[in-house]
Amino acid sequence: MNAALAGLAELNPASVQAPANIVARARTIGAEIAARHAADVDRDGRFPNEAFDALREQKLLGVMIPADLGGGGAPLFDVAAACHALARGCAATGMIYAMHQIQIACLVNHGSNGWHRDLMQRIAAGQLLLGSATTEAETGGDIRNSVCAVRADGDRFTLAKNASVISYGDQSDVILVTARRNPDAPSSDQVLAVVTKQDYRLEKTSLWDAMGMRGTCSDGYRLEAAGVIDQILPLSYADLSAQTMLPVTHILWSSTWLGIAADAVSRARAYVRSEAKRKPGTTPASAVRLAEATAKLQQMKAVILAAIRQYELACGSPERLTSLSFATAMGTLKVTTSELVREVVEAAIRTCGLAGYRNDTPYSLGRHLRDAHSAALMIGNDRIMSHISTQLLVQRDGSGAFE
Ligand SMILES: Cc1cc2nc3c(=O)[nH]c(=O)nc-3n(C[C@H](O)[C@H](O)[C@H](O)COP(=O)(O)OP(=O)(O)OC[C@H]3O[C@@H](n4cnc5c(N)ncnc54)[C@H](O)[C@@H]3O)c2cc1C
Repeated sequence: MNAALAGLAELNPASVQAPANIVARARTIGAEIAARHAADVDRDGRFPNEAFDALREQKLLGVMIPADLGGGGAPLFDVAAACHALARGCAATGMIYAMHQIQIACLVNHGSNGWHRDLMQRIAAGQLLLGSATTEAETGGDIRNSVCAVRADGDRFTLAKNASVISYGDQSDVILVTARRNPDAPSSDQVLAVVTKQDYRLEKTSLWDAMGMRGTCSDGYRLEAAGVIDQILPLSYADLSAQTMLPVTHILWSSTWLGIAADAVSRARAYVRSEAKRKPGTTPASAVRLAEATAKLQQMKAVILAAIRQYELACGSPERLTSLSFATAMGTLKVTTSELVREVVEAAIRTCGLAGYRNDTPYSLGRHLRDAHSAALMIGNDRIMSHISTQLLVQRDGSGAFE
């Protein structure tokens, strides 16, 4: 593989050398299964069943769960590389895998009681799929505020949420739901409740017929759940989000978008090569655009790798993870990669010309462009930038570049 197009995993020799490692298995599933069904998943807006059957068979849904609970104990780097590898074949598959692993990371980092440990064992053994209900009809993308609330009664609770988007809600076995701590709590005093299929009832309120990411099946639901108090993660959602959900989300989403961009560049490169074969001895004019797409792809990869390193360095230090500078770094990662993925795909389309614009050539890039457009909207970039600009007013200057 051309070094410029190499995936994240190629940059980690240990990851490449480990036999039958998770990245290699994800790469095979991405290239041989997800890619084969990607057009069909996109056209019909259906869940990528074939890829997820294979991921379950390869035990890739529980890879981040600690080994003593039956999982693989994989580091975030490997999971990011797996998201990238899957998204190269089918962006919806990569994004569903990313969203699932984000929920797993929250459970692993913050689910310390017996109920949560037992659930993690069940997830690893049964390869259960985890979904997320953060977006609420009343608050939209403002996921740090909730209208719905936990109602406690003794050691049990109930909650009801107008969840305007729950990706793959029909296929999920477990859903992590944000809600106010109690009916009297302010909207920002939230907790994260973990509810299993036995605990909740979903009533569909809208169908996902979107421009791109059609296979994520991000339907709307009214969710009603009941469970024991132990199911609620003990840390406040504000801290849990800062320490785990926000950084892991932005790293895994960005890695998925890198997969879309990498496949677009692969197609553009194949097109330029075919042009070069047709006219031996000349460099096709389209190669200039390919260079531009490749440079932006490298930029994406660099910022993702830097963010993973920053996260690794901050892990274990709640103080660093909740610092404004860390939140700013993770927010800008999301904004940067979500803009770059669209720019890379557009440069790839310019490279291929009509062959990329048409839907019936090996170089078609319509699906990539539609999928890439979801990136800036998944927690709107303008919302993130307005949040960052407020933080900058109170943030002190870092004393060094590596803080
Ligand atoms: C493929 C996909 C899968 C998803 N899956 C899930 C899921 O499984 N579970 C889930 O809970 N959610 C999911 N979501 C929803 C997602 O997390 C966001 O909540 C949602 O995309 C935000 O939608 P919105 O644009 O309507 O909301 P809003 O955030 O309300 O934004 C509306 C518009 O207002 C702008 N805006 C808002 N605030 C500001 C501000 N302060 N300054 C400037 N502009 C602002 C935004 O930029 C945007 O243009 C998914 C979204 C997508 C695209």
